[in-house]
Amino acid sequence: MKRLDWGILNMLDQAQIDALRAEIIPPQTQLIDGKKTAASNGGVRDVFSPIDGSMLTTIAEGTSADVDAAVAAAKKAFNDGRWSRMAPANRKQILYRFADLIQQHALELAVLGVRDNGTEISMAIKAEPGLAAQNIRYYAEAIDKVAGEIAPTPEGTLALVHREPVGVVGVIVPWNFPLMIGTWKIAPALAAGNSIVMKPAESASLSLLKLAALAQEAGLPDGVLNVVTGAGAVVGEAIGLHMDVDVLAFTGSGATGRRLLQYSAASNMKRCYLELGGKSPNVVFSDAPDLEMAAIAAANGIFRNSGQVCIAGSRLLVERSIHAEFTKRVVEIAEALKIGDPLDTTTEIGAVHSETQLAQNLDFVLKAEAEGAKRLTGGERVLQGTGGTYMSPTVLDNVTPEASVFRNEVFGPVLTVKPFDTPEEAIHLANATEFGLSGAVWTSDLSTAHRLTMGIKSGMLHVNTYGGSDITIPMSGMKQSGNGVDKSLHALDKYVDLKSVWMKI
Ligand code: ADP
Repeated sequence: MKRLDWGILNMLDQAQIDALRAEIIPPQTQLIDGKKTAASNGGVRDVFSPIDGSMLTTIAEGTSADVDAAVAAAKKAFNDGRWSRMAPANRKQILYRFADLIQQHALELAVLGVRDNGTEISMAIKAEPGLAAQNIRYYAEAIDKVAGEIAPTPEGTLALVHREPVGVVGVIVPWNFPLMIGTWKIAPALAAGNSIVMKPAESASLSLLKLAALAQEAGLPDGVLNVVTGAGAVVGEAIGLHMDVDVLAFTGSGATGRRLLQYSAASNMKRCYLELGGKSPNVVFSDAPDLEMAAIAAANGIFRNSGQVCIAGSRLLVERSIHAEFTKRVVEIAEALKIGDPLDTTTEIGAVHSETQLAQNLDFVLKAEAEGAKRLTGGERVLQGTGGTYMSPTVLDNVTPEASVFRNEVFGPVLTVKPFDTPEEAIHLANATEFGLSGAVWTSDLSTAHRLTMGIKSGMLHVNTYGGSDITIPMSGMKQSGNGVDKSLHALDKYVDLKSVWMKI
């Protein structure tokens, strides 16, 4: 069977991975002002692996006092200019070294992250250390290339527009792709000259702690990148409410996004950039240039990483004339995907991140069936004997636009299918959720492709492919998928203030 080419499988050495997975992970501390720091009250949190339920290690259960210390360190570092006013060429060299170190430690970072969050290693190696190194290099290159402006003002005046770093940036990261998503934020924030207080997800902190240690090894001055670990409701809230945090950059759920806006309103009205969920439509017309490739992409687009991908193509909309045949093919592909040990290089679907997430996924399936959906495959917990959390890829047909599974993000391996008759109906169905993150259209007709991509209100659309992108392309949500831009040079704007200076000459 033709599969999408992830292009990196041959870089993975199973023996090396097995050696790394056997390593004991020592208890983890936070990084505050360049020092390994326990929680202020000595609290720790146990970390379990979704692969087999085993306890991996502990992380510090950070407190609001830890956030105060980290923000104070970040602010001091910012104000004394050790990074914010370092010569741009020097800042660039440090970030290059940081990217090189990530690349040198790529397998170690990937295995550590997979033990913590359960993503299949074949995806994690590329999406995590691979993209993290690329993201850091991209913004490092921008440091001495993105300049301010001289405005075209009348004679006798000179107006300068400076791009000033904002100050202290709070970065709150989810558990699905900590290194990729974390570096979407810390790389442009550092390139712009800011200091950072980062909070990883409590259930996936290990690879980001290692990443921060590599930044330090690369020569990033103390206090510029601080990491506080622990609960969202404690550490995340303290960052959100802090009067000395100037900008918040977040990826996660809509519910937390709303809270961050409230924290901002209740404190210093800090800018909040939110990358939230998605319920992305994948629209397949009968004239798609390669229906087999479309079926493979439809399956990969929702089932890889057990659907725990914000841009997952979770709603398949298929032109009625090919609905039955195309759906059957997607089901066959889903059933052939190899689920299991995420650290086996041949695994195509790793673990669901947690018992809570798995229970939510299974609930969605039951509710969908109660609302009239027909389960064509999957919908079950599998491999329970491993002690880990795994779910079979699920295809639900006959899902109405009113059904909760059609409108809400599952964040699991659950695909809904709905036939359509006309391009107008496809656009209407595609837009029938509160989200607007991603999506795709499969057709050979350029006019149909253009009509659909203009009609669908989503930040990132694909034509005759799914999920293709790179760091040069903005990642931005519309509607309740969020605001602001990750990736591309536009992301730098989030982390600068424009200051204009008007001079009479
Ligand atoms: P998910 O459903 O993907 O876990 P969350 O929004 O719960 O999404 O988590 C994303 C990040 O937000 C995590 O780092 C989490 O700890 C953090 N978080 C959760 N609750 C809060 C909160 N009340 N305030 C700030 N951050 C939070």
